[in-house]
Amino acid sequence: MAIAVYPGSFDPITYGHIDIVRRARKLFSKLYVAVVANPHKSPLLTVEERIDITRAALAEEGVNGIEVISYDGLLVNCAREHGADAIVRGLRANSDFEYEFQMALTNRDLAPEFESVFFMTAGKFSFLASSMVKEVCAYGGDVSTFVPTSVEIALKKKLQK
Ligand code: ADP
Repeated sequence: MAIAVYPGSFDPITYGHIDIVRRARKLFSKLYVAVVANPHKSPLLTVEERIDITRAALAEEGVNGIEVISYDGLLVNCAREHGADAIVRGLRANSDFEYEFQMALTNRDLAPEFESVFFMTAGKFSFLASSMVKEVCAYGGDVSTFVPTSVEIALKKKLQK
């Protein structure tokens, strides 16, 4: 079975991401969740915080056997370093498609040995985005249906600073 890397900002990880991890884990013998150090969006959480929170969230949800790593620079270099065969991404609405399509074709150009594999979101997570979770939390709203408790606690602590 193949090895895959699931890259993202994970700022923070949500139940939408965790659902993709759970499903991808069934198809790949090894799955790396790769937290990008410097995403194109400016993150609220540092890369160390995002790694710790991602690990804690996966543990809390009983998702075992996943290695959480971080990378900077080109994703294809990270995939190469970890002996990956595939790059996993999630698709929510139409709005994700354009960006994911562009990125997949660019990555194929850079490194044709990797296959990009897309998981369609589960209906109940189709609206769920890290940016929305941060906004709701910043205004004191309940995010417990969007993220595990460990993420909610870490996010509240960060936003209080
Ligand atoms: P990036 O900045 O690389 O897009 P994100 O953490 O926002 O990082 O997302 C990482 C991947 O997870 C992307 O492929 C994104 O489409 C997917 N994703 C994010 N939220 C969800 C969700 N609710 N359901 C399914 N996939 C999702």
